[in-house]
Amino acid sequence: MEIVRLEHVYKEYPLGAHTVQALTDVSFSIDAGVVLAIAGPSGSGKSTLLNLIGCIDTPSSGRVIVAGHDITGKSPDALADLRARTVGFIFQTFNLFPVLTAKENVEYPLLQRHNMSKQERNKRVERLLEFVKLSKYARHLPNQLSGGQRQRVAIARALVTRPKVVLADEPTANLDHKTGEGILALMKDINRKTGTTFIFSTHDQKVVDFADHYIGIEDGQVRFLGVRRDGKWLIRDEWLQKARSDLAETRVSGVGAHVR
Ligand code: ADP
Repeated sequence: MEIVRLEHVYKEYPLGAHTVQALTDVSFSIDAGVVLAIAGPSGSGKSTLLNLIGCIDTPSSGRVIVAGHDITGKSPDALADLRARTVGFIFQTFNLFPVLTAKENVEYPLLQRHNMSKQERNKRVERLLEFVKLSKYARHLPNQLSGGQRQRVAIARALVTRPKVVLADEPTANLDHKTGEGILALMKDINRKTGTTFIFSTHDQKVVDFADHYIGIEDGQVRFLGVRRDGKWLIRDEWLQKARSDLAETRVSGVGAHVR
């Protein structure tokens, strides 16, 4: 089942008298339940892509379909509603409320759900804190937690609404290598156990190997799309022309190779 589809998406930002072309003719689809890495150098368009998939922004032209809804031309209210029901976010700077405890941070997105009882809310939050191994730290404020622990709070917060898709913008950029690997392994574990789709961006090629699908982006254009089978990346070249296709024959052992 498909969870996200982009069709001939262009995104421009006005900048003074000029426009910046952030995305140029981007088309691909993402199956539900995958772990997908969007990789590319700084300024290549990763955040722009995540903002579109996360219903934070709309394309200048083309179509973006998220969980069956075309976001093109949607009002900010309709986008906010779709976002709240469909997407969870994880940021490189964690973005926790500094005055709220770990537990309160995780609980926060549920406070909008007026039909949910306090008991049910507590149950969900406690279960998630347990899952990310932070039950003991529930009453700690963010500044009493390590970077890795803060990111685990952020993961629990992203999951508490049971979103279909979790978007993580460079989730390991502010963590040391080992802690970053732990965070990626946790996301993968949650993906396997819950079927939640995870999409993360990174400029670090090493991090890509934690994913099972891969989109390489440069200068606002998709350069290659890959899927991992038996530890090897297969380049899905055809995705560049149409959203779905059989695997291309090109086989590469690493993800650094370009297929154009
Ligand atoms: P990445 O996440 O890969 O670093 P971005 O998606 O943030 O890349 O940016 C892609 C391009 O769009 C860059 O050239 C960037 O400067 C430009 N850009 C991004 N957001 C804006 C904005 N709000 N206004 C103007 N230019 C922007």
